[in-house]
Amino acid sequence: MTVDRVLLAEPRGFCAGVEKAIKALAWMVRVFEPPVYCYHEIVHNRHVVDQFRAQGVVFVDDVDQVPPGAPLMLSAHGSAPEVVAAARDRGRVVVDAVCPLVTKVHHELKVRARKGYTVLYVGHHGHEEAVGTMAVAPASVRLLERPEDVDRLDDLATVGGEPPQVALLAQTTLSHDEWAGIVDEARRRFPDLWMPNRSDLCFATTNRQAALKALAGNVDAVVVIGSENSSNTVALEKVAVAFGCPRVVRVNDASELPDDLTGTVGVTAGASAPEALVNAVVARLAPVDGVHLAPVTVEEEYFPPPPELRELLRGLESALSLFNGVPAGDIAGSGTDDGDPVGPATRVLADDRTTGAADVLERLAG
Ligand code: SF4
Repeated sequence: MTVDRVLLAEPRGFCAGVEKAIKALAWMVRVFEPPVYCYHEIVHNRHVVDQFRAQGVVFVDDVDQVPPGAPLMLSAHGSAPEVVAAARDRGRVVVDAVCPLVTKVHHELKVRARKGYTVLYVGHHGHEEAVGTMAVAPASVRLLERPEDVDRLDDLATVGGEPPQVALLAQTTLSHDEWAGIVDEARRRFPDLWMPNRSDLCFATTNRQAALKALAGNVDAVVVIGSENSSNTVALEKVAVAFGCPRVVRVNDASELPDDLTGTVGVTAGASAPEALVNAVVARLAPVDGVHLAPVTVEEEYFPPPPELRELLRGLESALSLFNGVPAGDIAGSGTDDGDPVGPATRVLADDRTTGAADVLERLAG
């Protein structure tokens, strides 16, 4: 393989929601004896999941598989209300790592359903985010996957002679083109369609796609790093094809790169793919004329740790302070007390913004 140069999309890789979820699960691993349980993959990336498995995390698809009292984390994709309720049953410590932008869609759906709307939800059948969201108001929601699905809504034509109240919401990680096609069709069919002021497609999805669009026409091939069950990764593949990239390759890691890439290669990564994988891909491509950054925006979004985790750390801090001789700065290896009057939970929470999930994963592995 002789690659001339690499164009590296910016932003790429971990988003604020994934950062939050990975850091939260890393804390669970440090605070509790294994096994720590996680409902669904914490994020859709094989390497991240395997790293946590190696630390004693057990991933389950049914909370009934979690023994009573065992610590349990709920994934970033959001869980059905009945799953959250079942998880909290039986005395478990439960930390919900749902991304706040997914929670926002759950809330929109709940409110519209309560107001009597039929909610058209644009998403992927069977995806964990879609399943969890639709479970918020199953009797009021209809799944749309493609524009033609709008034609199958004949039963919504009128209600007692009145036009139906219809709202349109979306999975956060769709490709923009996928979303736009359905919006146009739904608006044509339901002129009074209710939609949120801003679409539900999240900033991370939007920014990663914009960065890729900007370089897709100037490269001989694009490498998208991420897992096949990652919706936003698959959306990146679609965007690269739609914007004229002659060749698009998705890989889990550098070992899957084809040997025949040449010329200028664009590289990006889905929102759950660690930067270490990007570095390894770029190293394997070994571009003769180097790596050129292709930025479109700077992301500064930050999501603080889940409230249950903040409470847990503060509880541990209070408990430790009751015991003489127990260093206040050492909760399950979180650090050492150097006389700093600020407690460990307070320090951890203050440091969270500046500590990256990639560093946390590296420290865990070490
Ligand atoms: S891709 Fe978007 S919705 Fe999903 S975790 Fe990241 S910020 Fe949240």
